[in-house]
Amino acid sequence: MAEKPLLSVDEAEKILSAFPVQVIAESQPLLASQNRYLAADIHSPLAMPEFDKSAMDGFAYISADGSSAYQIIETIAAGTPPRLAVTPGHCSRIMTGAMLPAGADRVVKRECTREANGSMTITAEDRNRNIRRKGEDLQAGQLVLAAGEPLRAAQIALLASLGMAEVPTARPPRVGILTTGSELVDPGTPLAPGQIYNSNSYSLAAQLQETGAQAVLLGRVDDNAAATVEAIASALEHCSVLILSGGVSAGDFDFVPAALTAAGFTLHFEKISVQPGMPTVFGSRGDKIAFGLPGNPVSTFVIFEIFIKPLLLRLLGHAYRPLVQPAMLTTDFSRSHGGRTAFVPVSCREGRADLVPYHGSAHLHSLSQANALLRVPAGLTAIKAGSTVDVRFI
Ligand code: AMP
Ligand code: MG
Repeated sequence: MAEKPLLSVDEAEKILSAFPVQVIAESQPLLASQNRYLAADIHSPLAMPEFDKSAMDGFAYISADGSSAYQIIETIAAGTPPRLAVTPGHCSRIMTGAMLPAGADRVVKRECTREANGSMTITAEDRNRNIRRKGEDLQAGQLVLAAGEPLRAAQIALLASLGMAEVPTARPPRVGILTTGSELVDPGTPLAPGQIYNSNSYSLAAQLQETGAQAVLLGRVDDNAAATVEAIASALEHCSVLILSGGVSAGDFDFVPAALTAAGFTLHFEKISVQPGMPTVFGSRGDKIAFGLPGNPVSTFVIFEIFIKPLLLRLLGHAYRPLVQPAMLTTDFSRSHGGRTAFVPVSCREGRADLVPYHGSAHLHSLSQANALLRVPAGLTAIKAGSTVDVRFI
């Protein structure tokens, strides 16, 4: 069998980032759009504020009017337009958010006034005009949110304030998860000798949900060539992206790459010079995308984070830039082989990166203590404590 070409991390990232994808837009009710991404630019349909309004409970009057007392001509509540214009010697009682009456150019807050016999006297200087001018926050037609932006609570608040009940969002891709391995049982079932729990389906589903994709759990397939081809074919009826876990290495029971080929996929790469996760497979068939990930749980997690998440976010219209920051390594790092780019779990706080105990690609407890991955460049076997390193937050 011919040796599979070994791609660098950068080369694999380049293939993935150049892979054409189509963002599918769909309109969603405002709250249902939360945690999705915008599929179109949003221009404000309104000026904000929409009219000159009072920023205080107080009295609207003419600032150049030097009267000692102002006759109160009406009370203006928020939500009801004023009936009367303010003229010299007169004022209107006005509430916060109420429309400013014609003529008035200033509001004195209630705390700076005294009221008696239908008249208001200013008793203390109020240095603020206390008027929010029409359009001072936003002009009608102004671009307020760009396509691809995430819809979090602040964006939902803004869209609600603009009166938008429906939002154009990118439809989350349906991503199937198919686990291979005859040794696997799902949590909740007792283990027989030699069995282990299937954690990858759950870690992938959780990562997909955090990414904003829709996870479709498609169960487990035994390590059997024909069963794997069949499982792939039926999985594709339920998803546009398929992630297979396990069965991609060089073992006697690793059938995934051949099964993907048999199912009509073109494989764009099968091996990345990365640790963990070297035997990672990426293929496509028409508009279907498939990944085969090595079964070791940390490999699965890291490969998703580094290679799959950016592609899924592109399907969501989002130009994702992972958060990579310099940090000071607090302890010596060393490894026996330096050939591949490594991603090593670290706990990073306030610019300091602590290595967490890490025994290799099956050590999930290590990941649970980490919030970032230290990127160790290919060719490097040791990094001294005190060095500045790149960490990528997860
Ligand atoms: P494989 O890539 O299938 O050779 O699996 C590599 C290692 O990962 C083996 O020790 C498997 O038992 C383990 N493994 C494979 N799939 C899973 C899974 N879904 N959850 C947890 N461990 C797994
Ligand atoms: Mg396996």
